[in-house]
Amino acid sequence: MAERLGPPLDEPVFDELAIIGIGLIGSSLARAARKTNAARRIVVADISPETLARAEALKLGDAFTADLAEAARNADCVVLCAPIGAYGAIGRTIGPALKPGAIVSDVGSVKGAVIAELEPILPAHARLVPAHPVAGTEQSGPDAGFATLFVNRWCILTPPSGTDAEAVRRVRALWEAIGANVEIMDAAHHDLVLAITSHVPHLIAYNIVGTAADLEDVTRSEVMKFSAGGFRDFTRIAASDPTMWRDVFLHNKEAVLEMLGRFTEDLTALQRMIRRGDGDGLFALFTRTRAIRLGIVAQGQDTAAPDFGRRGRDGEATEA
Ligand code: NAP
Repeated sequence: MAERLGPPLDEPVFDELAIIGIGLIGSSLARAARKTNAARRIVVADISPETLARAEALKLGDAFTADLAEAARNADCVVLCAPIGAYGAIGRTIGPALKPGAIVSDVGSVKGAVIAELEPILPAHARLVPAHPVAGTEQSGPDAGFATLFVNRWCILTPPSGTDAEAVRRVRALWEAIGANVEIMDAAHHDLVLAITSHVPHLIAYNIVGTAADLEDVTRSEVMKFSAGGFRDFTRIAASDPTMWRDVFLHNKEAVLEMLGRFTEDLTALQRMIRRGDGDGLFALFTRTRAIRLGIVAQGQDTAAPDFGRRGRDGEATEA
């Protein structure tokens, strides 16, 4: 069953919300904020004129501009929804334009590097409340977004120590208004958790699809023809946006390498079990991993049917 947004708020969380980068996540935030009355006015900014024109045609905001400083000027809250690699340039552009006490938030999939990059370049009066909605799909652009993307998904806030509690409360209220469950976490812990739950799985998908594509004794058409046996689900993840994922790996280097080290050790152990014919060992591991899948379904984070997001906007999005 499709997820639903709650009723619109009587009083918006923000008078003016600026969204910088109107792709999958930015446009989903804009749609959801509009439907729930979480912001009185939404200003949309993007560096791409085509994307901006498309956002305007889709009526995703009240004002549209390619001038990022202009977009930020009257905003109570500016949410960066661009690839993480662009944050430095965006921060330097909007910083001088921010009004006193403006909240700067984001949706980036990495948090430690984002804080390290933004904190020194934003003015002292700005209040930085980084956020990561753990929801998404492998699609990109303003047409790919939908208002219910964040419903019943987690949104992790990683305010640096000493952040004004009122700013954190308002960012929490924004995400809760659009259906997300909010958790507050230390940025370094977020990056470690997401390295194993999201970043390394994406890397494995990119790797396995790349390996299959490069195999010399299996033709490319055979790979596509017989893809049902598990490979197809990896190809969906491996179709995720190259810019976004390049930036994730460049900005969460340490945690990803740490988790990749553990993964490699466990893979070697599995290799040994297969070589030695250790059926009991394989069976015990597969039983344990199946229980994890059942736990995810029990927590409402996926459906029992293994459709892995193929129902898209009609059903649930499953990727983070
Ligand atoms: P997307 O669909 O590609 O949208 C990103 C948008 O930002 C594009 O419209 C892009 O313009 C624009 N942009 C690029 N550089 C910019 C700049 N300097 N200033 C303003 N706009 C700029 O990507 P997305 O999937 O929404 O991802 C956006 C952010 O969300 C990333 O930081 C990512 O880590 C995070 N996130 C993604 C997911 C997911 O599953 N996709 C989930 C959670 C969080 P162009 O049209 O020119 O490319």
